[in-house]
Amino acid sequence: MSNVQGLFDFIDASPTAFHAVANICSELEAAGFDRLEEGSSWALVPGRGYFVTRNMSSVIAFRLPEGRADSYRIIAAHSDSPTFKIKENAELSVRGKYVKLNVERYGGMLFSTWFDRPLSVAGRVVVRTERGIEARLIDIDRDMLVIPNVAIHMNREINDGFKYNAQTDLMPLMGSDAVKDGFKNAVAEAAGVCEDDILGCDLYLYPRIKGRVIGAADEYVLSPRLDDLECAWSGLAAFKAADAPANGVNMLCVFDNEEVGSGTKQGADSTFLYDVLDRISIALGQTGDEKYRALAASFMLSADNAHAVHPNHPEKTDETNCTFMNEGVVIKFNANQRYTTDAVSSAFFHRILKDNGIPCQHFANRSDSPGGSTLGNISGSHVSINTLDIGLAQLAMHSACETAGARDLDYMVNAMTAFYNTRVSILRDGEYRME
Ligand code: ZN
Repeated sequence: MSNVQGLFDFIDASPTAFHAVANICSELEAAGFDRLEEGSSWALVPGRGYFVTRNMSSVIAFRLPEGRADSYRIIAAHSDSPTFKIKENAELSVRGKYVKLNVERYGGMLFSTWFDRPLSVAGRVVVRTERGIEARLIDIDRDMLVIPNVAIHMNREINDGFKYNAQTDLMPLMGSDAVKDGFKNAVAEAAGVCEDDILGCDLYLYPRIKGRVIGAADEYVLSPRLDDLECAWSGLAAFKAADAPANGVNMLCVFDNEEVGSGTKQGADSTFLYDVLDRISIALGQTGDEKYRALAASFMLSADNAHAVHPNHPEKTDETNCTFMNEGVVIKFNANQRYTTDAVSSAFFHRILKDNGIPCQHFANRSDSPGGSTLGNISGSHVSINTLDIGLAQLAMHSACETAGARDLDYMVNAMTAFYNTRVSILRDGEYRME
């Protein structure tokens, strides 16, 4: 199976961050990795691979070396995408004839892209058990909802620019008033329990569109959630494909909540990564000195998609630090370190790319535009190691359906695999051996 088809299958099976993490976990289990629980004690065996989740929506996987765990090669990406969360009291009635769902935005999406397309609901419900509670993932896997546009005859100015109101313009229509309580029913049915046993919900809308290849020469992919499931999937593919490490630890982190600032117990701005690194060190019987030496020799790729030059608006991007689809892995730079790349981390990665014949390109925002932020600098405030920000060039970031380069996926998987296969040791601050 090609990487593109593998990515489409993964995205299609991952309507929410919970599903993305569950799918990553089952792929890791199938590849022989062992599941750890944060609430259990960790007995780790050199040469083996493990993974642990937090909140069911973030996952950290690692593969231990047979030899010394003297460094970490970490790839980080995010599991969430902008969407709409269903509020607790979900049903709204309109003139006794319609039932709408009451939703609020999660992250910063392009509103207009969510209109007039089939939508459904997926996420996590927590149900009553005999002795407590248990979370289950659900996906109401059918075309169920639509956010209808107002006809142009009733809104003549819409094509001159429109300010959407999140409380009035964006509620999806679910059905006629005859389906009152239909939402609760649908959720309970998907969870396989009766309504009364559902005690909590984290449910989200998702667009019912499948990924596809487009372009005159099949050069693009069009799909929901390319930001950032494309990087998460690439990281997973590389993590599984990489050689068993002789020394140093290979690690893959997929964090939730990047789209809302990462400030949750499972986000990049939490202790999750620090805690896992600490527990590995404890389980391997490292001294504090060995742990800090390993961190000094570590590198992280913070992988999140980047902006390609827009065909209708090339002026939105910097003239010389702009990127195009299908022209290779993007390395992102920002003077204020919203992207973490510096001369050392950039040189380290360039050396890997050059040695493996993988193309790359450089991105910086226009100097009069603040641009976005991502995982690397946030994670770095908890675990401070050499980091660079990378991604793949795409169009329409945060649209319900985004466009990226079909050939770039192979470049990213190969670059990440080469990164995992590069052994690093620190000689002194600013000087590293790579082999
Ligand atoms: Zn992103």
